[in-house]
Amino acid sequence: MKILVINSGSSSLKYQVLDMDSETALAKGLVERIGLPGAMLTHHCINGEKEVMLADIPNHDRAIQLLFEAITDPEYGIVKALSEIDAVGHRVLHGGEKVTGSVLITPEVKEAIRECFEFAPLHNPANLAGINACEKLMPDVPQVAVFDNAFHQTMTPEAYLYGIPYEYYEKYKIRRYGFHGTSHKYVSQRAAEMLGGYSADFKVISCHLGNGSSISAIKAGKCLDTSMGMTPLEGLMMGTRSGDIDPAVVAYIQNKENLTPDEVNEFLNKKSGVLGLSGISSDFRDLQIAADEGNSRAKLAIDAFAYHVKKYVGAYAAILDGTDALIFTAGLGENSPSIRQQICSTLGFLGLKIDPLKNEMARGREMDIATPESQCRVLVIPTNEELMIALDTKEVLRKLFGQVIVLDKEKGPIYNNRCCV
Ligand code: AMP
Repeated sequence: MKILVINSGSSSLKYQVLDMDSETALAKGLVERIGLPGAMLTHHCINGEKEVMLADIPNHDRAIQLLFEAITDPEYGIVKALSEIDAVGHRVLHGGEKVTGSVLITPEVKEAIRECFEFAPLHNPANLAGINACEKLMPDVPQVAVFDNAFHQTMTPEAYLYGIPYEYYEKYKIRRYGFHGTSHKYVSQRAAEMLGGYSADFKVISCHLGNGSSISAIKAGKCLDTSMGMTPLEGLMMGTRSGDIDPAVVAYIQNKENLTPDEVNEFLNKKSGVLGLSGISSDFRDLQIAADEGNSRAKLAIDAFAYHVKKYVGAYAAILDGTDALIFTAGLGENSPSIRQQICSTLGFLGLKIDPLKNEMARGREMDIATPESQCRVLVIPTNEELMIALDTKEVLRKLFGQVIVLDKEKGPIYNNRCCV
């Protein structure tokens, strides 16, 4: 069974084709600068070779058409015909309250995605454009939506409600939703597998630390709390996003700097976080180099980021009543021993101790970096959102159409009650 996974952004589109028997990627690629001059598609084949196509890509329809050409190309493609693709899994940022899991895309699901445009103006319209383009070009292939907030729908009202008049929740659905759900779900499942399976009391705190960052408190595979809120702006300080601030700061800056609400929103999302604090970069590698050269603001930005992460770990340890494991994932969490060391340095109250040598060795690969006697495991787990989306897509199809009973080379998988092509 082959599943195409699509993560469609406003001017870019990432894709992967996964073989679900081996659960590995057969090809992956990126379309950049959609609707802009200099648009291009970069396609990575299974043999490690890279193909770059420069093309006029005015919209998502054209981007998807090009990626279809790439994956069926006789030289560097991985399927002979599109009919070999059994399903498409789409990453969708925001499904609001209506969506509690991954679903087959129907007109109602598309309407739910549209209703959340206001909450996710950069992501949801682009996600829907990707869905529409696929539907147009592969009308017979099932399309599944995997929502970034779905994993967090297990939070209870005391975790997801803000301390504002209740009618704003009723009228506008203002509440915490949480994001990076696919990543938190994947790494918490892997943690359970690494540590011998789920028990009713298995507790983890997962730290997704990248350009966007969030933390989740997870018990027996269910999210109890997460740091991002109604939008991905809340929570940890991030590359360019402010994370938590006193809400009064917004109106104060708006007045002082004579800004519109949209302009304030823009600088909180794009000019704040470690970029705003350091004045240097949103990229932690640049910050580390600058800090090593003695730049005090770069050091301050790194220290403030690590401090925020620690504060959330402490809060979530209180919510969970301790934790069995602390997980580090995403670009920074997977690759930076120094940030992990800094975050773990005062977490001894959790019985947690990391082994400096193991911490140094764990760069982009799965590893338990805690000492043998540590009472809390510290796991570095590279996230794999594409695999999670493909697994969810497969599961949605299994529930809808039953188990795959025959794999037909011509027609794709035949289910016990429906041929899925
Ligand atoms: P992501 O958004 O998950 O791609 O993560 C991007 C962030 O991870 C950037 O701030 C990078 O600086 C950081 N990052 C990626 N690789 C490394 C590395 N080898 N060492 C330190 N930070 C890294």
